[in-house]
Amino acid sequence: MDGEGSMKKTELTGLTFRELRDWTTGEMGMRPYRAGQLFTWVHRRRVGSFDDMTDISLDARAQLDGRAKLTRLVTVNTLSAVDGTVKHCFVLDDDEHIESVLIPDEPRLTACLSTQVGCKCGCIFCQTGLAGFRRDLSAAEMVAQLYALQDFTDQRISNVVFMGMGEPLDNFRNLEDALSIISDDRGICIGARKITVSTIGLPGGIARLAGLEGQYGLAVSLHSAVPATRRKLVPASRALSLKELKHDLLLYNEMTGRRVTLEYCLISGLNDSISEAAALAGFCADIQCKINLLVYNPVKGMDLHRPGPAEVEKFMEYLYPRCQAVTLRRSRGSDIAAACGQLGASRMLPNR
Ligand code: SF4
Repeated sequence: MDGEGSMKKTELTGLTFRELRDWTTGEMGMRPYRAGQLFTWVHRRRVGSFDDMTDISLDARAQLDGRAKLTRLVTVNTLSAVDGTVKHCFVLDDDEHIESVLIPDEPRLTACLSTQVGCKCGCIFCQTGLAGFRRDLSAAEMVAQLYALQDFTDQRISNVVFMGMGEPLDNFRNLEDALSIISDDRGICIGARKITVSTIGLPGGIARLAGLEGQYGLAVSLHSAVPATRRKLVPASRALSLKELKHDLLLYNEMTGRRVTLEYCLISGLNDSISEAAALAGFCADIQCKINLLVYNPVKGMDLHRPGPAEVEKFMEYLYPRCQAVTLRRSRGSDIAAACGQLGASRMLPNR
């Protein structure tokens, strides 16, 4: 803990351009053009220290070094899957651990980022959910995951999904800043339309996301359109009924002109019946959406099973003529526990 009189350094990596400009001209008493220089060094060139900022005077660099810091994540472990997916485990300043995933899918390269250490939502098929919630990530910690992943590869990261550990809309304030920073064309410049936020849907959260300046993509972890089944699979979905969720998705369609992706993880005997498929088709009827089916990835210690290929086929066949777009998503990185619901398996469980 900081002693009395010591000053906590400002994490520049987590300041939006507007915040950086206010801080530079206000707290630091510098000229406004410094904000542009700093933003470029931090987010486009992504240097590791103020010493590397060669077009900033030595005096100003020393001043910055005393009052601010650049957030870099320390990699603890990196695992590569046979399909090219790479999972990174990072340690944070307070010794918490988070995981992020790099997913190649020519011509795209997608970074899957975490927004919290752990998660409050408790989805029964998810390793992160089982481990409970530790804390929110700062905007700087979200942005720094992306930069660590980008440093790992020569290929430019083209897409970002906030689909790692945590519920992004439960950490909205920091998410909003991270979105603004990574889509800023003065920085790493990943267009808002190439960034997707994945959520179970929290009250008011989808409308807030739709109201942001950029048109960010939305993926909703639906997993069932039958109220009782959804409450069982996604306990935190109790906060927003399916009727309210549908209302929010229609609002998102209207406000952004974009369609929503509905994530549906098929689990044997729980949500893979034809009556579940019928409820899903009914739920989707007037929403501009795409359904992404995914077959459950077994997680050690959970008594849940994958449906067989015939069950998956039947489910899809029911949906095809009734829904606008249905895809069966390939599970990526399952051999390194980097697939959906598997993050945090190695580090987050209490008996780690
Ligand atoms: S699936 Fe997502 S929302 Fe559900 S517990 Fe896991 S991290 Fe949280």
